[in-house]
Amino acid sequence: MGIATELRGKRVINARGYSTKVGGSRPSAEVMEAMVEASTFFVRIEDLQASAGAVIAELTGAEAGYVTAGASAGLTLAAAAAIARLDPGRMNRLPQSDGMPNEIVLLRRHRNDYDHALRLAGARLVEVGFNDWTFAYEIEEAIGERTAAVFYLGSDEHANLSLADVVAIAHRHDVPVIVDGSMALPPAANLRRFFEIGADLVSFSGGKHIQGPQASGILAGRRDLITSVALQHQDMDVYPEMWPSRGLIADHVVVGPPHHGIGRGFKVGKEEACGLIAALRAYVRRDFAAEAARLGGYADEIASGLAGIRGLHARRVDGHLVPGAMGRPGPHVEVEVGPDAGLTAFELVNRLQAGDPIVCTWEGKAFEGQVRFYPDGLADGEASEVVVAARRACGA
Ligand SMILES: *Cc1c(COP(=O)(O)O)cnc(C)c1O
Repeated sequence: MGIATELRGKRVINARGYSTKVGGSRPSAEVMEAMVEASTFFVRIEDLQASAGAVIAELTGAEAGYVTAGASAGLTLAAAAAIARLDPGRMNRLPQSDGMPNEIVLLRRHRNDYDHALRLAGARLVEVGFNDWTFAYEIEEAIGERTAAVFYLGSDEHANLSLADVVAIAHRHDVPVIVDGSMALPPAANLRRFFEIGADLVSFSGGKHIQGPQASGILAGRRDLITSVALQHQDMDVYPEMWPSRGLIADHVVVGPPHHGIGRGFKVGKEEACGLIAALRAYVRRDFAAEAARLGGYADEIASGLAGIRGLHARRVDGHLVPGAMGRPGPHVEVEVGPDAGLTAFELVNRLQAGDPIVCTWEGKAFEGQVRFYPDGLADGEASEVVVAARRACGA
């Protein structure tokens, strides 16, 4: 038994999709080889970020790219860049942002767990609209001298204001738009699409559908903002006279190097950066139709295996991995736990996560009596184990 298996304890069957709580994804051998290769040498991190950024720019169509420690870290860096821009004095003061344009305008319906990442940089969130409707003029009115950016949740496909609408308003006022693209892959087309629409910075997770290292992500977009990100993220133990980026001073881009910035605690190792780029290169070649067919098979197996359990109503639901969708899950199983099931959705989730192996499900709708099974992280043979565990949990 290796040390990782020793530390893991009980085996976990991941039926909740790629998520941080269960360790992200299972990076391919190709990704792990890149990480091992990176572990054998030293490199100046700014050089590595520059070449990784060039690959990201090429594959996303953005002006510039950067490897982050995840989409959440990317959002903090994006907010920091929007607030401080290329002013080292401001960079040094964050998250204290008094006296700087520090407001980030967003649709109320786009408030979510991860907007703490924006506030972490010193941003103040300005919500507009209602949960189900936002007028364009409400965004327009909220933008003013104190506005640093407008935020948009890339995976929202039901908002009445599209990203294109919001970009048009923000750009009329010369304000950048930050997009959280973490749940917007698949479809892979969204790697490019947000930039085609005009987003200024987009943050993606490396450890979800891209299946790179769990503690990695991509931030891409406007070159000046990515330069600000780099300055606030890298180790800045430098002196102006010997700083490898001193050309930025000579060219009057910055007056001097900032100190360690708001992003220093989200550092990215050379192993993560190289693993992420290996995963991203593989991502744009991946056969998503074949993957969806395999996952659909697991979903069918779970749905049919749960059929006939008293009080449970299981059905396969298909996402649409089509270009044009803003980001939807692929095939999965939605299980309604009815009043005659003899247990609640909460109990079903808890029994599954108390078992051996532990079966992790997606519990976000349990308060509505629904438990979801996402097949993305299942290996061959695990769908039938999920069925056995669920039948046992229901006493069937
Ligand atoms: C997962 C997630 C994030 C954070 O991504 P990490 O790569 O884990 O940091 C941000 N936003 C949304 C909507 C997410 O689902």
